[in-house]
Amino acid sequence: MLPLSWPEFQCIHPFAPLDQVEGYHQLLNRLGKWLCEITGMSQITFQPNSGAAGEYTGLYIIHKYHESKNEHQRKIVLIPSSAHGTNPASAAMAGLKVVVINCDDNGNIDFNDLKEKANQYKEELSCLMLTYPSTHGVFEEQVKDIIDYVHSLGAQVYMDGANMNAQVGLTSPGTIGVDVCHLNLHKTFAIPHGGGGPGSGPVCVAEHLVEFLPTHPLAAVGGQKGGTAVSASPWGSALIAEISYAYIAMLGAEGLAEATKYAIFNANYMAARLKKKFKILYTGKNGFVAHEMIIDCREFKKMADVSEIDIAKRLMDYGFHAPTVSFPVHGTLMVEPTESESKQELDRFIDAMFAIYEEIEEIASDKYPKNDNVLKNAPHTAAHVASDSWAHPYSRQKAAFPLSWIQENKFWPACGRTDDAFGDRNLVCSCSPIDEYRKSL
Ligand SMILES: *Cc1c(COP(=O)(O)O)cnc(C)c1O
Repeated sequence: MLPLSWPEFQCIHPFAPLDQVEGYHQLLNRLGKWLCEITGMSQITFQPNSGAAGEYTGLYIIHKYHESKNEHQRKIVLIPSSAHGTNPASAAMAGLKVVVINCDDNGNIDFNDLKEKANQYKEELSCLMLTYPSTHGVFEEQVKDIIDYVHSLGAQVYMDGANMNAQVGLTSPGTIGVDVCHLNLHKTFAIPHGGGGPGSGPVCVAEHLVEFLPTHPLAAVGGQKGGTAVSASPWGSALIAEISYAYIAMLGAEGLAEATKYAIFNANYMAARLKKKFKILYTGKNGFVAHEMIIDCREFKKMADVSEIDIAKRLMDYGFHAPTVSFPVHGTLMVEPTESESKQELDRFIDAMFAIYEEIEEIASDKYPKNDNVLKNAPHTAAHVASDSWAHPYSRQKAAFPLSWIQENKFWPACGRTDDAFGDRNLVCSCSPIDEYRKSL
């Protein structure tokens, strides 16, 4: 990360003349080649600054392709119901119409539903947007047949590459026959993106789409039949691309494949242990997940009036940042351990989840009331636990130090429970009223 603060990287204007930024371009060209090799694609554009911007760009490229064949009417995008919310949003932004495809009980795309709808709209079909492995955390076995089918109708296949962490070095979008995909360099290729930025969502395309890559008015990028720019800068977030460059350069081909194996292995280790107490919502035919798992929390609501949010908040008392909540299925937690955590850390997380399970059982058996317990009051701040008055039916020790190792390494949440969506629904203007300014003059 340190070299990013060097002026040689940091102080370059995106429109600097090419002969002054040859080093940068060596780097970007090399990174582009690596990413094309990893995805099995032919060319790349670095313009998009996020996964969502990549989706928009990919759909735009596909639209230009159809236009070149005089098929302007192809404006329907098939999107499985398990897709990330950005997929339909990007389609709408690109002026396309969304048709939702159902998923079956195992979380896979319902192939019959897809065939039916694809046929119904076959003249207008632009593409299928597919997430692989799916957001349900499973490698779909029929993926190649699905792609072949969509191609047979003259439509294209866009792959949402947010889950590439489960593919790099083992398989690729090119292998399964995808035409366009984005990469989230800030997910799969090590760019830290806590708190919403910065992102980089380059788009890779197969040979027949290279000429439709987006252009830019101030730099010679993109294809001959490409559309207008999709980002202010011709190479997008070029600065942070160096992080992905370094990550790939240091790991090498073998290290990248190893990282993917560990990501899948860690997820399956965790799923195998957690399933003793929790229901893992979707697994493949052989009982395995890909790189992430969905933990079903809905039965706890009936058992003890405990929701997935309560578990997420309680995890903070155990020192863990909450995982993804209620996506892609309501009432669940989605956990993606990645390759980065040690086995000790995975075990600590599992121990915390087991301990929380016991806390839920205590509530279910009426040991603690449903409206005043460690889960409903989580997270517990230092001020709360150390205050002179304590009226809860459980001890302060139980609130703050539920497992022995937490005493040695306690993380104190800075603020207590807030009503999650309240702030979203009730706009609070924090500006002073205009009269305040009059007084201060
Ligand atoms: C994160 C994600 C996106 C969107 O990427 P951003 O970079 O956040 O815009 C799209 N699809 C899936 C499956 C994702 O996980």
